[in-house]
Order: sequence, then C-alpha cells, then structure tokens
Amino acid sequence: MGSSARQVRASTPHSATTVFQGQESSGRRHGQRRLVIMQLELVDSHAHVDMSEFDSDRADMLARAQAAGVRNILAIGGAPGSLDSALPFAERYEWIYAAAGIHPHEAKLATPAHYDELGNLAKRPKFLAWGEIGLDYHYDHSPRDVQQRVFTEQLELARGAGRPVIIHCREAWRDCLVLLDTHWRSSGLGGVFHCFSGTFEEGRRGTEMGFLISFAGNVTFPKAQNLRDVASALPLESLLIETDSPFLAPQPFRGRRNEPAFVAEVARTLAPVRNLAPDELAAATSANFRRFFRLSETNSRRLQVRG
Ligand SMILES: [Zn+2]
Ligand SMILES: [Zn+2]
Repeated sequence: MGSSARQVRASTPHSATTVFQGQESSGRRHGQRRLVIMQLELVDSHAHVDMSEFDSDRADMLARAQAAGVRNILAIGGAPGSLDSALPFAERYEWIYAAAGIHPHEAKLATPAHYDELGNLAKRPKFLAWGEIGLDYHYDHSPRDVQQRVFTEQLELARGAGRPVIIHCREAWRDCLVLLDTHWRSSGLGGVFHCFSGTFEEGRRGTEMGFLISFAGNVTFPKAQNLRDVASALPLESLLIETDSPFLAPQPFRGRRNEPAFVAEVARTLAPVRNLAPDELAAATSANFRRFFRLSETNSRRLQVRG
C-alpha cells in the first residue's frame, strides 16, 4: 500500500538512526535544506496513554515516542466510568487512534449503559477497534462465567458496529478460541491478539480467523525464548508490536514505567528472530497495522528537524 518510492529505510542494518542532509520535497518551506533523521518506522499497537502514570510528563512522553520513530499509537480506553478516555488523544493528535471496550478484569461491572456508550464511541471516526476484551484466568478479577458472558456480548456488539476487536487473553486460550470461533469468525472482521503469550498453535488459529498477533515487552525477557520461537514461526504479515505501556517495560527498562518510545526495543529483539534488520522488522509491522486498519501512508510521519 502506498508509494514505495517514498518509503524511508535506515541505510545500515545495525544502527536504528541514520542522519543525513535531505531535500524537503513538500510543505511550506519547499526548497529549504533540512536535516532529516531517518530511523525506525514504528507503530505501537497497544498503549494506555491516558493512565495516571503519564500525568506528570504526558506531552514529553508523546514527543519521545515521535522522536523514536513511532508513527502511530493505538490508544486503549479505560474501565467502566472512563471508557472514552482514549478518544481525546485520537481526536487531538492525527497520528493516534483509539479503542475502547470492557476488559475482562472489569467484566463484573458491565451494564447495558456501558454497552450503549461503547456503541456510540465506535461511531467516532478515530475509533479503530473494540477492546480490549477477552478472558483473564490468571487474575480472575471477575468470575469466569461473567467474563465469558461480557466477552461474548461485546463480540456481538463489535460485529454490529463493524469493528475489529482487540483481544486480551491470559491463561484462557481454550475458552477464548472457542468463543471466537463460535461468535466472531463468521464476522470476517478479525482483530488483534494483544500482548501475545500463547503457543504457536494458538497464534496460528488466530491468524486463520483473521487476527494479527501483537508482541509486547515480555518477548524481550531472557526467559521468553518460547515466545520468540512463536514470533519466528508465525507469518511476518500477521505480526504487530506494542508496548502495553505503562505496563511491561522491555528488557533494558524492565521494572520501570513503560512508554511508547520503548516499542523500538521490541522491534530490535524480534528483528534477529526473523533474520531482518530492525528497520525492516519495524517497517513490516507498521505496514501490517496500516493494512489491517486500512490507514493511508499519509498518516505516517517522519521526524524532520530544520537544518
Ligand atoms: Zn491486556
Ligand atoms: Zn492493555
């Protein structure tokens, strides 16, 4: 999709950033020479930029993301009571998109009024996907039968809204895949398995149902070879990367607050796993995101600094 002639690639596989003098070809300062910083072209497919962890430096955090090469963020909304919390970011920043849904942790709080609210949010132009929704049997913050009911109800609502779904599934793959097979596959809308922690077979079944598989900071952890093996075996066309920030910081920042700029570390970890240079892995996952959500290249940005 888009013009390959304008595609920007780092010139060496070993450095994330390449700097050279470029000629500005469009824009108000046509003809002026500018310093163009070429770097990884990244998409963070899942971040909670609305959360209070960013209250003290949110604008700087977003600027760091852009400086690191993050061209798009899919901002995930909050819990019942703040389901709309990602939309203001998407409506203020062209490069940010929004999702909203009731997380399995909060399934026990779901009411018909919340479903009505989500239905209205799903009509907003920058709303890309319904989620995160799913099942979490690790924490069991809501009873499992309630999680399953609220997950199923939201699948039906997302189908009605014609939106893909962002799936949160932890230690619940058998039930999750059965519910998707029964209530979602026939929609043809697909979605994203976010912060993927399943097996190759579970990921493969997702791709069969039109899902992309998104890897987060946990794929960088030394003990996560099993996840890296899954990432090496799935089709490159089905891979996304994300931070799930402020949670789950990748290895060099492990234990600290995570932020969208750190999605570069996920790309750097997965690149050798796929026998690719970091810029190639980053560009491929970014293209997957734009293709799946039907976003144009014009939504992509590259950082330009006046020279
Ligand atoms: Zn999640
Ligand atoms: Zn999340």
